[in-house]
Amino acid sequence: MHAPLLAKMTNADSSARMLKSTVMTLAAAFVLVMIAAVAVVFAITDSANRIEAERQRDRIEAAIESQIRLRQLRIETLASTGQLQAVFNSAMPRQLLQLAFNRFSKGFADVEGAYVVTAAGQVLAGVENGEPAGQTGYDGLKRLSAALPGSPLAANREGPGRPRQPFIVFDGHELLALMSVELSSMQGAGEDQDGLSLVGYRRITPSFLKGLADLYRINELRITARMPDDPLLRREIDSPQGPARAWLTWSPERPGEAMIRQFFWALLGVGVVFAAILVLAVHRLRAAAAEIGLRERQIQRLAGQDELSLLPNRRTFDLRLDQELAQLGRNGSGLAVLLLDLDRFKAVNDTYGHTAGDELIRQVAERLSGMMRRGDTVARLGGDEFGIIQTLAAAPDDAAALGERILESLTRPFAIMGVETTVGCSIGIALAPRDGEDRETLLRLADTALYQSKNEGRNRYSFFESRMNRSLQLKRLVEEDLRKAIANDELVLHYQPQVSIDGSTIVGVEALVRWPHPVHGLVPPSDFIGIAEERGLIVPLSDWVLRRACIEAKRWDGIRLAVNVSAIQFRHKDFVANVMRIVRETGFDPSRLELELTEGVVVDDADAAENAMMDLRGHGVGLALDDFGTGYSSLIYLRRFAFDKIKIDRSFLEYMETTGESAILVHSIAHLGRALGLRVCAEGVETAEQHRFLQAIGCHELQGFLFSKGVTAAEIDTLLTLKAPFAATLAAA
Ligand code: C2E
Ligand code: MG
Ligand code: MG
Repeated sequence: MHAPLLAKMTNADSSARMLKSTVMTLAAAFVLVMIAAVAVVFAITDSANRIEAERQRDRIEAAIESQIRLRQLRIETLASTGQLQAVFNSAMPRQLLQLAFNRFSKGFADVEGAYVVTAAGQVLAGVENGEPAGQTGYDGLKRLSAALPGSPLAANREGPGRPRQPFIVFDGHELLALMSVELSSMQGAGEDQDGLSLVGYRRITPSFLKGLADLYRINELRITARMPDDPLLRREIDSPQGPARAWLTWSPERPGEAMIRQFFWALLGVGVVFAAILVLAVHRLRAAAAEIGLRERQIQRLAGQDELSLLPNRRTFDLRLDQELAQLGRNGSGLAVLLLDLDRFKAVNDTYGHTAGDELIRQVAERLSGMMRRGDTVARLGGDEFGIIQTLAAAPDDAAALGERILESLTRPFAIMGVETTVGCSIGIALAPRDGEDRETLLRLADTALYQSKNEGRNRYSFFESRMNRSLQLKRLVEEDLRKAIANDELVLHYQPQVSIDGSTIVGVEALVRWPHPVHGLVPPSDFIGIAEERGLIVPLSDWVLRRACIEAKRWDGIRLAVNVSAIQFRHKDFVANVMRIVRETGFDPSRLELELTEGVVVDDADAAENAMMDLRGHGVGLALDDFGTGYSSLIYLRRFAFDKIKIDRSFLEYMETTGESAILVHSIAHLGRALGLRVCAEGVETAEQHRFLQAIGCHELQGFLFSKGVTAAEIDTLLTLKAPFAATLAAA
């Protein structure tokens, strides 16, 4: 039965861990998703940036190209005008030629410098920023670009007539756009113009670049000597020192970044909200996991430990007992199971409250734990019940020694909430393997022994003995069957004669109930009266007895009928009315009825008892004090309550022969009774000596096996017909 429990405990244990790892996985997944989302956003914006960058690069190239072409076109247009041709057609001396070119070149608004050059590179005329310029200026240009492939000034350029391309060159500081046109290719050119070229240039200044940048919405357009990493953001410029020495580069408009900038706060807000939700969720889940963990630990503890005493609980006790029993054969020694019940726990609980009761349990648990040896187990089995497994208990002596120690320890006073209290305990002991080898049997037998300890007056220990089983079985039987037995008229009454002091005549009978049981035989009242009281069956049982006794004894004219009354029954508020109703209904003469009460009946609530007794006496019913001497034996009660008779308990007679004290007591009681004007009856008269003694001290009536035990009504009928019913027995004694 414990395996599933343990399995459940382990399952529960891992569920908190599982939850925790789920939480961590969830958090990690969330973070990954966030990273992926950010990456996707970046990829999208980056590709938007690139697309835009490509477009811009194309636009920039196209723009520069078109700007230069525009100027080239200008030069070409100029070269083809009749004016320039007119200048070079006439065989003008060089100075005049220069002058004429000078004037002509005022129209070159877009060109900073221009030269007319022969095929051999001889400058015929030149102008720089409106001023005449000569061979040096042109040579400077030529040095810059002649060695570069594709340059209009390249030495190895192909034959005439081939259209020249505009060309950008870097002079180490700035860009120059070179343009040239062969005058001979111009429309209407004369022969004397063969081989002449018009070469022009223009600086591409930073402000020009800025203008371009503004036009194309580019952040910065500049020249750099270091190659930009991104091929989309550079355009290589030829320079005289060799290729790839200068680049045109720019910071393009980046729509992706603009987008991010625009949505930055929104994205950040969303991110923050998500992160907050994540943190909250993780926090809550962690808290939940912690809570579950805590509960699990509690459950585990509750499953194995008693919360109040912190001792192992019944489950653990059972488990350990099973384990110990499984090993019983191996080490050769036995074990003892001790069941322990506190004697006055209920009183402490009722008097000082539950908190005090709890405190008592804790202190008892502490004392018990302190007494255990290694390997022994003490557990709280519930209420005020404890169980002990004493291992390596070789002989009953070990268990007895432990029992002694426990009794000694638990009878020492406890300080409960500032008040000194004493409680005792009752212990039942069963031994393995002597009494049994399985848990159920051992616990049952230890319980039987415990029951015995309690019955024998508490604060003691008892070993299980097989005779105990019977009384326990009966107890169970009574609980189940007594109600049925009463209802089905299955009980019987025996009557024990009460005889005159000389033993010659029957003066009364005492009704004694018995339970003929098909299995257990004739069950004596001592085995079931107490249980009937506990189980609330005493009233119907007593009613049955009284009714049956009245019916049967009615015919025994002049004979008193004694009926026993239990304390519980007597305390019932309708007790007197009930008795009188039955007497009336059966037609019995109340003056022949004598109720036997014990001292316990009157002690508890003396006033109520006194009233009831006066009431009964008022109806003519007699009252006897039963078992006198065993209880309080109080003279005050004897005087206060209206008894007619006292019955000396048979225990006095039992010991009379062995101890002189008993004889003295019996003597005193008889004397006292007589002095108070009561009839004195002695119970349990078994021998002739007792009879003689009782006669000598002046008792009035006798009851005992010397005369007769309890017999059936029919036998009483017979005895009553006899003149001297006990003469034979008395003579024999
Ligand atoms: P009790 O009222 O003191 O009854 C006398 C008991 O002593 C009877 O036991 C009787 O059999 C026994 N007895 C009588 N003479 C001798 C003797 O010479 N030697 C020995 N050893 N015993 C003797 P019983 O019938 O077992 O009844 C036991 C007790 O049960 C009674 O004690 C009485 O208290 C109670 N009882 C019996 N019947 C009833 C009943 O109907 N109602 C109630 N409430 N209690 C009853
Ligand atoms: Mg009696
Ligand atoms: Mg008695």
